[in-house]
Amino acid sequence: MSGAPVAGIPTDGEIAVLGLARSGRAVATLLARRGHSVYVSDSSASPGLEATAAELRDEGIAAQVGGHDLARISRAALVVVSPGIPPDAAPLAAAREHGVQVLSEVEVALRALERASVVAVTGTNGKSTTTAMAGGILQELVGDAVIAGNIGRPLSEVALRESAPPWIALELSSFQLHDTPTLSPKVGVLTNLSPDHLDRYASVAEYYADKALLFRNATGGSTWVSNADDADSATMIAGVPGRHTRFSLESRADAWLDAGSSTLMLGGTALMPRRDLPLLGKHNVANALAAALAVSVADEAFSDADARGRIAEALRNFQPLRHRLELLGESRGVQWINDSKATNVGATLVALEAMERPTVLLLGGRHKGEPYAPLAAEIRRTVKRVIAYGEAAPLIAAELGAVTEVHRAGDSFDEAIALAGKSAERGDAVLLSPACSSYDMFTSYEERGDRFRELVAGMNR
Ligand code: ADP
Repeated sequence: MSGAPVAGIPTDGEIAVLGLARSGRAVATLLARRGHSVYVSDSSASPGLEATAAELRDEGIAAQVGGHDLARISRAALVVVSPGIPPDAAPLAAAREHGVQVLSEVEVALRALERASVVAVTGTNGKSTTTAMAGGILQELVGDAVIAGNIGRPLSEVALRESAPPWIALELSSFQLHDTPTLSPKVGVLTNLSPDHLDRYASVAEYYADKALLFRNATGGSTWVSNADDADSATMIAGVPGRHTRFSLESRADAWLDAGSSTLMLGGTALMPRRDLPLLGKHNVANALAAALAVSVADEAFSDADARGRIAEALRNFQPLRHRLELLGESRGVQWINDSKATNVGATLVALEAMERPTVLLLGGRHKGEPYAPLAAEIRRTVKRVIAYGEAAPLIAAELGAVTEVHRAGDSFDEAIALAGKSAERGDAVLLSPACSSYDMFTSYEERGDRFRELVAGMNR
């Protein structure tokens, strides 16, 4: 798409885009193509970023790497922020101090995609899985539907297409919600809430307040999906205008798991047997229920018998996402499971709940502020040994040492994995579900999970 300026985005003055990774690059191109004047900057410098900057300059965009021109940003007509920029970063502080409006990359893309219907997904855990499932179901139903947002494909890339897709499954982090003031999804999904990101928020209340921004433009005509089993979610949605639908693993709801017959139920009738969903763990049943419900209430045409058949078909064919309770394989009777995406205690807890074998649990990385004690009961049930590694190892040993045998692997990830291999016997599982961020040793949870995969492949060769 090119041509007309993006609705509500200034045309006089310069738009300062912060961050030159995928989202920043896409939104800079989008704005330039729509006739806006753009300056984009990134504090880091690398050959890759230099190359991106050069390409953007060819598109008529002013691009700077290795630093931000704070005076230029302070004079901008608008600042557009990429998801990776921390809220206290200097250029954001400069913008706020000079009264420059700050919008997320997602907000700009949504304005450019005004005719697309959006199923927006947020929550503490299960966002990516639920978004991917909802997108997969929409693709099965309408063909042209895309999966975008925090899941890895910037929404601005979608907005660069020749024509907008009719449906978008959009994953939103709390940081993205913060600066997305006109968000008004066809259906908004809140998967669950538990404390997270206490390294970036001053309090749980502040983190929850950003999550609540999913509902900021709620009206009587809005439609919501939330988790009937989660007290914090119930508190958050109380009083939010609109139609409320709920999913549950515990009792009857708009979508629920009938534990007796092990069947996923939707709108009062059977959708599919649990065994047809190709994913480990009850939490993934919750994610599937949330996704199926969200799509079925998004449009009248998506709730008849034919559509229900296709919803079930899409879920049966769902490809598990990498790094999320991903079974890497079984060797000498030991299952190796990569759950590197579990970067908080809540995520590790659900991984443990899914374990059916005696488990060697790899915990560690950079501590994020939450206590590990909530893992105690599941550790007693299923874990034979904890291997603690990385910066958080001393804390983990101190908090869980009384619960189970905790081995300290020190500063080497590779050593930790080798130790886990030695600790496991035939019939066991080794689970990497660290409950911490990866940033003490890796640049991302993906890199951590990929290294785990490599080491496991090497060990089992
Ligand atoms: P997110 O995008 O919110 O981080 P993902 O779908 O990527 O969520 O899953 C990340 C991790 O969170 C998974 O590896 C799993 O351990 C945990 N998780 C996934 N779904 C749920 C859920 N519904 N409830 C609790 N934890 C979950």
